[in-house]
Amino acid sequence: MLPHPDGDGSQSIVWCCEPERAKAIETLDLREVEQAMAETFGDRLGRFVVKEKLKGYPLYQSLDPKPVNGRIVNVGNAAQTLHPVAGQGLNLGIRDVATLAHCLRDWIAYPHRDPARTLGIYQNLRARDRQGTVKLTDLMSRAFTTGWAPVEHAAGLGLWALDAIEPLRAHWQGI
Ligand SMILES: Cc1cc2nc3c(=O)[nH]c(=O)nc-3n(C[C@H](O)[C@H](O)[C@H](O)COP(=O)(O)OP(=O)(O)OC[C@H]3O[C@@H](n4cnc5c(N)ncnc54)[C@H](O)[C@@H]3O)c2cc1C
Repeated sequence: MLPHPDGDGSQSIVWCCEPERAKAIETLDLREVEQAMAETFGDRLGRFVVKEKLKGYPLYQSLDPKPVNGRIVNVGNAAQTLHPVAGQGLNLGIRDVATLAHCLRDWIAYPHRDPARTLGIYQNLRARDRQGTVKLTDLMSRAFTTGWAPVEHAAGLGLWALDAIEPLRAHWQGI
C-alpha cells in the first residue's frame, strides 16, 4: 500500500496475484472488492473503503544483458522490468539515468568522439545494481508466495526489519 496523491489517508494498493484471479478481481464492483480485500488481508489495517475499481497490469520480468547498443542506451523499464514487491523499479531507472549523465559528462564537451568506451563503462557500472535488484525482488516475490508459512513469516520479518532498522533500510535504498 502506498500513499495516494489525494492525501487524506488515501492509499493506492498493488495487489499481486495469478492472472486468472486478477481478471476476476477486475470484474468486481467496489463493494465486492472491499469484501475480497477484507477476506485476504483480515482487519488488522481496519475496514477498507474502495473508491475505484482495480485495474489489471501484467507483470513480467526482463533484464536486457546488453542495454547499450551502439549509440542507443536502454534505461529504466526499457532495460529491465521487475516485480513491484519492494517498489524499486522507478528508483532503479533513476539510478540508470543518473549514472549515464555522470558518464557522459566529459564526452558531451567533445560529442564528435566515439562514445563506445564511455558507454561500455556505463554498462559495467550499472550491471551489479541492475542484476542484484532484479534477482532480489524476484526472490522476495517468490518467498511471499511459497504457501509455506515459515518461509512467508521469515520474509515478513525481513520486511519488518527493513522498515524498523534505519541502517538496513539505508543500505537497501543505496543499492
Ligand atoms: C503495479 C506496479 C507498481 C509499481 N510500484 C512502484 C513503486 O512503488 N516504486 C517504484 O520505484 N517503482 C514501482 N513500479 C515500477 C515503475 O512503475 C517503473 O519502474 C517505472 O514506471 C519505469 O519508468 P520508465 O520511464 O522507465 O518506463 P515507463 O513508465 O514504462 O514509461 C515508458 C513510456 O514510454 C511509452 N512508450 C513505449 N513505447 C513507445 C514508443 N514506441 N513511442 C512513444 N512512447 C512509447 C509508454 O507508453 C510509457 O508511457 C511499479 C510497477 C508496477 C507495474
